[in-house]
Amino acid sequence: MTKIRKIQLNEREMPTQWYNIQADMPNPLLPLLHPATKEPVGPSDLEPLFPLALIKQEMSTERYIDIPDQVLDLYRLYRPTPLHRAYNLEKMLDSPAKIYYKNESVSPPGSHKPNTAIPQAYYNYKQGVKKMTTETGAGQWGSALSFATNFFGIECKVFMVKVSFHQKPYRKTMMNLWNGQVIASPSEQTNAGRMFLAEDPDCPGSLGVAISEAIEVAAMNEDTKYSLGSVLNHVLLHQTIIGLESLKQLEMTGDFPDLVIGPFGGGSNFGGLAFPFLRYNFSDGKQTRCIAVESASCPKLTRGKFEYDFGDTAGMTPLIPMYTLGHKFIPPSIHAGGLRYHGAGAIVSQLLKDKLVEARSVEQADSFRAAMMFSRAEGMIPAPETAHAIAQVITEALTAREEGVAKTILFNFSGHGLLDMGAYEEYLEKDK
Ligand SMILES: *Cc1c(COP(=O)(O)O)cnc(C)c1O
Repeated sequence: MTKIRKIQLNEREMPTQWYNIQADMPNPLLPLLHPATKEPVGPSDLEPLFPLALIKQEMSTERYIDIPDQVLDLYRLYRPTPLHRAYNLEKMLDSPAKIYYKNESVSPPGSHKPNTAIPQAYYNYKQGVKKMTTETGAGQWGSALSFATNFFGIECKVFMVKVSFHQKPYRKTMMNLWNGQVIASPSEQTNAGRMFLAEDPDCPGSLGVAISEAIEVAAMNEDTKYSLGSVLNHVLLHQTIIGLESLKQLEMTGDFPDLVIGPFGGGSNFGGLAFPFLRYNFSDGKQTRCIAVESASCPKLTRGKFEYDFGDTAGMTPLIPMYTLGHKFIPPSIHAGGLRYHGAGAIVSQLLKDKLVEARSVEQADSFRAAMMFSRAEGMIPAPETAHAIAQVITEALTAREEGVAKTILFNFSGHGLLDMGAYEEYLEKDK
């Protein structure tokens, strides 16, 4: 029998609504709090930063939200994305597990991030916004937002974490190609940046610091809005296109996952893949285990505290109820820049607190070992972030072998690592 390695949907089969898990969570989210008054924030508190449509989505409890036609049209540049069966990896591990991965690396910027960058740019455009600011770690989010804003004639200013700015110079070029402007953070352009530089001129930067800079620029300029690539509810909402497509694709195979696994930075690719499956746990008695995989050097889910904390280092955002290592935490300069964030988004935090999802942490060396194995088995070279999920997939597939059970595992291949050769080179050198 012919092995079907890729399960494809055609463009007409792409879902036309996002799934909002807020409609089905057993315990609703705690509110965001105003940093000064400690009162719940209302829509008007967020208006300087975000367009109204996104604020509405942030707080919505409607189960399905229509994807605008213009967004669907741009999604079709790279969606639907293929679902692959990792036959070679299964064989290499000699595991009875069936391993599937959703390939989000086929988008032009190379990760899942345009799934939210496109609608965010669209809703800003609809409200007449001319300029947007944002932060980026490894550069994937900055690339995605530059790619998206360019279609709508919006200027995009990206504060890029300084250590990544130097580690991944081609990401800057990519953003420049799509008309994005890139500034190494901390920078001299903002009060927050100057403050961090005064404390430590060699500060490697962090997502928390870059967010402070980007928010400051948006808050001080009437014509500028801010955009975040993860953590917030509307970002996770947009990413559910990943899980909704996967559901349709798996249906074509007759399999349903026992395990859904994604790397975890702020929660967007994990939530995007897992939430449409969790819905069946809530409403259909299914018992799919959903596992978020974080970096052991930034372990907010496995070692952080659930409490109200700021989303940025300078303390400018509302207080978010989340698992956090503290907003002053500056993570070590690991290669998986997208996992270097001190907190977890509110939805995944609440689900973890309620024991409805699970979390694991993976050491950098183990993630690279897994990435190398995957590259040799399946050919695809994962982003260092994605490699964390792959390490956990391998652990689970080996457990399945020990237990002799043919589990179905689905994971998110959140991005490729073709612009991360510096990191791979270093790993191979050390491994000699
Ligand atoms: C940004 C990124 C992540 C982590 O961010 P989430 O919001 O948690 O998804 C993971 N993988 C890749 C490839 C990324 O670009």
